[in-house]
Amino acid sequence: MATKRDFYEILGVAKNASGDEIKKAYRKVAIKYHPDKNPDDPTAEDKFKEAAEAYEVLSDEQKRARYDRYGHQGMGGNGGGPNMEDIFSQFGDIFGGGGFEGFFGGGRGQGGRRVRKGSNLRIKLKLDLEEVANGVEKKIKVKRYVACNTCAGTGAKNGTDLKTCQTCQGQGQVKRVVQTMLGQMVSASTCPTCEGEGKVVTSKCDVCHGEGRQLHEEVIPINIPAGVAEGMQLSMNGKGNFPERGGVPGDLLIQIEEEPHETLKRDGNNIMFEQYISFVDAALGANLEVPTIEGKVKIKVEPGTQPGKILRLRGKGIKDLNGYGRGDQLIHLSVWTPKNVTNEERELLEKLRDARNFTPNPGKNEKGFFERVKEYFQ
Ligand SMILES: [Zn+2]
Ligand SMILES: [Zn+2]
Repeated sequence: MATKRDFYEILGVAKNASGDEIKKAYRKVAIKYHPDKNPDDPTAEDKFKEAAEAYEVLSDEQKRARYDRYGHQGMGGNGGGPNMEDIFSQFGDIFGGGGFEGFFGGGRGQGGRRVRKGSNLRIKLKLDLEEVANGVEKKIKVKRYVACNTCAGTGAKNGTDLKTCQTCQGQGQVKRVVQTMLGQMVSASTCPTCEGEGKVVTSKCDVCHGEGRQLHEEVIPINIPAGVAEGMQLSMNGKGNFPERGGVPGDLLIQIEEEPHETLKRDGNNIMFEQYISFVDAALGANLEVPTIEGKVKIKVEPGTQPGKILRLRGKGIKDLNGYGRGDQLIHLSVWTPKNVTNEERELLEKLRDARNFTPNPGKNEKGFFERVKEYFQ
């Protein structure tokens, strides 16, 4: 942060200036750097704020004493100084009341009538794993307010039975001149007659009864990119509700919900699948088919496979939302131990129990649990 200028210097007063002198000095600086008077000078607003900050301190006896004693360090760490709204609400007495809105007439720089925006529409959209993985175009039926055709959204009969508001002469706001410390200031507020619209309806549209909008059912196609996730929100500008009597429509906000898949589980951009194999297949090897989001895929289980082995199907996962390739499908091999055995099976298994190769004997090269986890996260 840049070093701060001395508060007395900012206002151009002596260290022993009286409260009245400080007030006068602030008024002068504030007029000079008022942002409305200096539209082409980007530093004016900073100087204006700087002056407000200095005045905030020097106009308060306690703060001023602390500042005299400790300088800027004594003024706490917020550093940023007051913002524009604060300046006008805190120093309302200086500017003649009304705060930010009243002072600037509802938004600096834009002038005149404000454009109204309609409300946003929110919908939830369920997607299955295939749709999430590849992206999808969905057609969504929504009921929303659109501009009335008959009156073109004005609410007036034939769209023409409108007259300019007499109170504000079509400006949408009423101005009055107020005497303030800064001299004459124009204070503006929303016109009470036309509520800021600048026009009044003389006779109402028969179709929308003066509302200027109608409920309308519409099918909207939405392109859902691949890789979206539960809770994400997409928005379509201008597909929300049209406001009453003219303006711009709000947005359509689409919240994503993921429908869980029966057997495949999502983990980021990867897909997890657990495949059970018998210990016979684990010992002798097998060819199997596993489901993926693109249908069945053949996999080979090597002879002597240990439980917990993870096979990786490259590129069979979910497309990355930001276009960084595609995830994998990871197949976790679990060995299924029979829970019930017949007498015949029991005899076979008992014969095997003491067989040399059925005694657990993990060698040095056997991948244990930790290696498998490490491998998975590679
Ligand atoms: Zn209408
Ligand atoms: Zn008006």
